[in-house]
Amino acid sequence: MTENTGVNIGVLGKKSPRRSGAERVVNAPLPTVYGNFQAIGYLDHDRGDEQVALVYGEIGAENVLVRLHSECLTGDAFGSRHCECGDQLEAAMRAVVAQGSGIVVYLRGHEGRGIGLLAKLRAMALQAEGLDTVEANLALGLPVDARDYRVAAEILRDLGVRSVRLMSNNPAKREALTRHGIEVAEQVPLLIEPCESNITYLRTKRERMDHHLPHLDAVAQGS
Ligand SMILES: [Zn+2]
Repeated sequence: MTENTGVNIGVLGKKSPRRSGAERVVNAPLPTVYGNFQAIGYLDHDRGDEQVALVYGEIGAENVLVRLHSECLTGDAFGSRHCECGDQLEAAMRAVVAQGSGIVVYLRGHEGRGIGLLAKLRAMALQAEGLDTVEANLALGLPVDARDYRVAAEILRDLGVRSVRLMSNNPAKREALTRHGIEVAEQVPLLIEPCESNITYLRTKRERMDHHLPHLDAVAQGS
């Protein structure tokens, strides 16, 4: 165990006085299959997380099209059908390119709604036995949603953004961002066509976490 000396050394290769919040450390061009983004890297001094915002085009201060994407290794990288995260990330990146400008903030530390990768996998194992996504977290003695959006608001502020059109179905995200000082001018639905593997998960999000998912009405009950 090391003692906290009040000085952060290492990540940037230089010594800096102890500070808090998100610090912008790098800006790199990131060409993707969707378009050419700028990857802007941040160090969150409060949690130690390395964060990245993908910026497309010339962004203004008001009504910026924004996605705050909670990291999901299984969904984003492996194409898991357990959740709709991978499809949402792709849809958000396509949307900002189609719009001509916007930001996708990819939030590390948000695995499994903030419980971490291993706990998420344990929760998924319980869901395979019939628990829903809320019950599974509770059965493990973990919070249903432990995500914090402070760093997202700090990153947006650093990018000069005052108000956003937020691509999300989750009212809690909107409230959290507002609480941290970023105005949400509009909530833009990000509805992904459900499939057999994720329909139960999506219904639980709607029924137990108040997510706005009107398109699920079109899917037959019990399918
Ligand atoms: Zn996911």
